[in-house]
Amino acid sequence: MHHFEFTYHNPTQIHFGRDSFGQLAALIPPAAKLLLLYGGGSIMRNGIYDQVIRALAGRDIVEFGGVEANPTLETLASAVALVRAERRDFILAVGGGSVCDGAKFIAAAALYEGDGWDIVNGKHVVERALPVGVVLTLPATGSESNAGAVVTRAATQEKKVFFAPPTRPRFAILNPQVMDSLPDRQLENGLVDAFVHVCEQYLTYPVGALVQDGYAEAILRALKALGDSFARRREPGWQQNLMWAANQALCGIVGVGVPLDWATHRMAVELTALYGIDHGRTLSIIQPWLLRETIDAKRAKLEQLGRRVFDLADASAEDSIAAIEAFYRGLGMPVHLSDTDVADADAAERVMQALRAHGNAALGGHAGLDDAKTWRIIRAACSR
Ligand code: NAP
Ligand code: FE
Repeated sequence: MHHFEFTYHNPTQIHFGRDSFGQLAALIPPAAKLLLLYGGGSIMRNGIYDQVIRALAGRDIVEFGGVEANPTLETLASAVALVRAERRDFILAVGGGSVCDGAKFIAAAALYEGDGWDIVNGKHVVERALPVGVVLTLPATGSESNAGAVVTRAATQEKKVFFAPPTRPRFAILNPQVMDSLPDRQLENGLVDAFVHVCEQYLTYPVGALVQDGYAEAILRALKALGDSFARRREPGWQQNLMWAANQALCGIVGVGVPLDWATHRMAVELTALYGIDHGRTLSIIQPWLLRETIDAKRAKLEQLGRRVFDLADASAEDSIAAIEAFYRGLGMPVHLSDTDVADADAAERVMQALRAHGNAALGGHAGLDDAKTWRIIRAACSR
């Protein structure tokens, strides 16, 4: 008998819809000294910046742009310095997961005198942070309403996740119209990131979790349907479904009280840290191989996924893995490092070395990942 043991509290207010920018002014205290945080400038080209500025007319705003995809400690440190110099007390993130994650880091680091990397590696436990709000421009990570963030230290090529509940956004504006300007590549990445987020909270072993399994399968089926109807990706109905699915995939509700296995994410980050591969694409490269290596531990759940998500009668675990891989291929996602333009003959060895250095080469977990299994996964996914 598996007992559910959890506390669930997700206080992020979500305002969803085509008119949701209109809520912004009411969500931010009138006297707030805002830091408007954004990425490489897509919000300037697609009009989102103008809409936000119009909605916040008359407010005290200082801007910080240039948060890169896979935000670095180095860039975020400059934003923290600006927050201090300009006495900012509210961080408004306008962007995708990278800008949301960056905002969380800044919100915590602004109130911490020590080395910012302490927040990322867990040496400093975040107990207070400046308030964060989000205008989401890319559905993928769920960062807009969760308490996690991923930061890269460029100097050491380390990419790490941290959790800090005080940085969880107060609100998130989810307007599916922002997706009009998203390149196909980012839609593919977002779809797969959300799919893998659900898998990491579902593809373990059965514990009789009727509600959690049902939520997971509903989201996975939705994502599968969106992938199968990718030709309709510019339609509002398609867009709003991806935006809501990606949010629900990692807002915390799917994984309450059930076993989790974040091994795909834990391993995939090294491919971004070493080669700059988009986050979603690192997941599609690692996950099928990881599932093949851990198939015995995950067999019952893989069979359930095959039946309930891919509608395969009598699915074997092998069939389910093949279906997942075919789904990614159908979206044009890489399922092996050689499907990318990385041309490093020693990639497998280099990735393995990084995993060992960062304590991710023997994650254990229910599938008992040790150094030998991890190496077989990396060799299969990355060697020529
Ligand atoms: P992203 O890195 O935030 O953005 C990717 C690209 O999309 C950027 O070049 C960005 O351009 C562009 N973009 C964003 N919105 C756009 C729009 N509306 N129109 C046109 N272009 C747009 O992508 P992401 O996948 O959302 O975030 C990835 C990061 O999140 C990774 O570091 C990953 O590890 C992390 N992550 C976090 C969590 C979590 O729970 N916190 C979970 C999974 C992954 P601009 O920079 O010019 O805006
Ligand atoms: Fe992810």
